[in-house]
Amino acid sequence: MKTKLIIGGVAILVVGAAIGAWATYSFAQNLIMENLPIGTASLDEKDSYIEAAPDLNPLQPKQLKVPSSKAKNVILLIGDGMSISQISAYRLINGGPNSRISVDKFPYSGIVLTHSENGIVTDSASSATAYSTGFKTNNTYLGLDANKNILENLTETLDRSGYISSLLATSEITHATPAAFVAHVDLRWKTDEISSQMVDSNIVTFLGGGRHFFLPEEMGGKREDGRNLLQEVSDSHVLLKTKEEMNNFDLNLPGRVFGLFADEHIRNIETPDNHVFEPSLTDMLEFSVNRSEYFIDNGCTGFFIMAEGSQVDWAGHVNNMDYLNNEMKDLDSAVDWALNYAIENSDTLVVVTADHETGGLLIEPANPVDYTGDKVKFSFNTAVGRGTHTGVPVPVYAYGPGAENFTGTLDNTDIYRAILASLETDSDLGSCIN
Ligand SMILES: [Zn+2]
Repeated sequence: MKTKLIIGGVAILVVGAAIGAWATYSFAQNLIMENLPIGTASLDEKDSYIEAAPDLNPLQPKQLKVPSSKAKNVILLIGDGMSISQISAYRLINGGPNSRISVDKFPYSGIVLTHSENGIVTDSASSATAYSTGFKTNNTYLGLDANKNILENLTETLDRSGYISSLLATSEITHATPAAFVAHVDLRWKTDEISSQMVDSNIVTFLGGGRHFFLPEEMGGKREDGRNLLQEVSDSHVLLKTKEEMNNFDLNLPGRVFGLFADEHIRNIETPDNHVFEPSLTDMLEFSVNRSEYFIDNGCTGFFIMAEGSQVDWAGHVNNMDYLNNEMKDLDSAVDWALNYAIENSDTLVVVTADHETGGLLIEPANPVDYTGDKVKFSFNTAVGRGTHTGVPVPVYAYGPGAENFTGTLDNTDIYRAILASLETDSDLGSCIN
C-alpha cells in the first residue's frame, strides 16, 4: 500500500514537472514573440536610411612593418563579392561549423574597408584600382585617380624591377578586376580600350574568358572599333583557346600567352559541363605559376599573379546559393593550391581577399525564435532577384613573407602597399620582357 502511494506520488510529481516545464517554455516563447517585432514589420519599415558622417578625416595609411624576409613571388586571390558571410556559408554547407576551409589555414588575417573615392559602396573597378595602385578612385574608373590622372599600377611598377605578372579570371578577362591591374580608362565598360591596352602591356599571361571582346561585331564579336584583336593577339602572343591547348602547351617555348577559353565568361552553374573544355581557376593558377617559373629561369626576378573568382559576385547579384557554393568551391580549391605552393616555396606570399560584399547574405536560424539545431536560413538581402554590392568590410588572409602586415583593420589601398612592402624592388633592373 505504502509503495503504491509512493509510486503514485512520484508519477504526479513527474507529470507536474513536465506540465510546469511546458508552461514555462510556452510562457518564455510567448514573451519572446511579444517582445520581438518578428513578422510585424513591413520590408520598408525595417530599413533605415542614414547619411554617413561627413568625411573630414584624410585617409591614414596603415603603419607597415618591414618584413623580416622579403618575398620573391606574390599570388593575390580575389573573391569578387566575397565577405565573411559567403565564406561562412561555404564552410557550413560543405563541412559544418567545425570544419575548416582553405582560408582558415592562413596564419594572418585582417579586415579591409572597401569604400571608394565617391561612394560608401564600391564597385569592382574602384576597389581593384585601390589594390593595383594604392589610390582611392571613383567607381567605374580603372587605373586612374579621381581626377582621371593615370596611376602607375602594380604590374607596371614590378615590370620595371624585372618581375613578371599574370592576370587570371573566370569572367571575361576584360572585366573590372583584372582590367584594373593593366588598363587606364575612366569607364570599366570601355572593353575595346581595355582589351587593346592588355595586348600592348607587358603582362606575360592572361587567362580567362572573353573572346567576343577581341572580335569585331561583323565577325560575331562585341568590338565596336572594327578591329580584329584576336588576330593581332595570335601574332604577338601564343593564343590558347581550350583547356586541352593549355595543358599541351610546351612550357619551354618563349612568348607571352593569351588564353581566351570562352566567348564571354568561363563556365558557371548554367553550363557546368563546360569544365571539360574550359579550365578551372586552379588549372589556370597552376599553368601561370609554371609559366612564371620559365621566365624566372630565363632571368626575371619573380612573379606576381592576380587570380579572380569572378562569379562569386554574380551569384550574389542573382541571389543564387547553389551558384555561390559552386563558385566558392572553385575559388577555395585555387586558394588551397596557392597555399600549398607557398608552403613548399617559402619565398612566396599568398594574399586572399575580396573587393566588396555582394547580395547582403545573411545566416539566421530557420525558426527565428529557436537558436538550436543545424537548420539555418541563407538569404540575400539586397534587392531580391537583382542583388547589389554592400558596404560591409571584407576579410584578408595572408601567408608567407610579409604576411604579418595583413592584420588588424586595413583600407583597401593598404593592401597595395603591403604587397609592395613584401617585395624587393629595384627599378634599375628594368623589364625582363623584350
Ligand atoms: Zn566586384
